[in-house]
Amino acid sequence: MRTIAAGIKTFTADFFSLIYPQLCPACDGPVYRHEKSLCTACIHSLPRTGYHLQAGNPVSRLFYGRVPLEAAAAFLVFQKDGRVQQMIHQLKYKGNRGVGVESGALFGTDLKKSPLFADVSCVIPVPLHSSKLRKRGYNQAACFAEGIASSMQISCDTGSLIRRKATATQTRKNRFDRWQNVEEVFAIGESAHLENRHILLVDDVITTGATLEACAVKLLEIPGTRVSIAALAAASL
Ligand SMILES: [Zn+2]
Repeated sequence: MRTIAAGIKTFTADFFSLIYPQLCPACDGPVYRHEKSLCTACIHSLPRTGYHLQAGNPVSRLFYGRVPLEAAAAFLVFQKDGRVQQMIHQLKYKGNRGVGVESGALFGTDLKKSPLFADVSCVIPVPLHSSKLRKRGYNQAACFAEGIASSMQISCDTGSLIRRKATATQTRKNRFDRWQNVEEVFAIGESAHLENRHILLVDDVITTGATLEACAVKLLEIPGTRVSIAALAAASL
């Protein structure tokens, strides 16, 4: 009976996917039952940066002289009007959490094999302000972080780094303004469990790096921490 029930369930799922086909968030092509969110063709042809294996890559150079990081990398190259832009749009504005989690899981598999990231023991996403979180219903960076943490088999901490202000982080001004901005926007809550750990700070897209810089500065206030950065995508820097 169980086999028949399972068969009916599979048949129903296939039937519904004929009427309401699930589409790949990157290329709009059909996604088959064995595929999670992205289609297999996209998984194999996404524009990966390979930065996780290069110590002095363009993303890590973006933070030189701003905040001392262990390493930094982005999974994909952000191209306007391309598949990566569509993925980010789905993740941020269309409620498609799955594309974030799956991209994170793919990147986590790469990071685990990289000597630069191998001893990371905790993933922390850039937090949204509580009002924005309520409005969107989820934190897109946390979806990506969750995926990374699952394939690196480490914890994902969404409670220790707090966003106190909803305003956007200002881009680079002078040193004092930047410092003041950092002091105002982000805060560290309960953090004893993060002491002496290598933390991977995660966001969706890197542009100026100002928000990630502000968060990294805060995390480095915790005794003994080392911080690295991982983003889903970076524009060609
Ligand atoms: Zn696709």
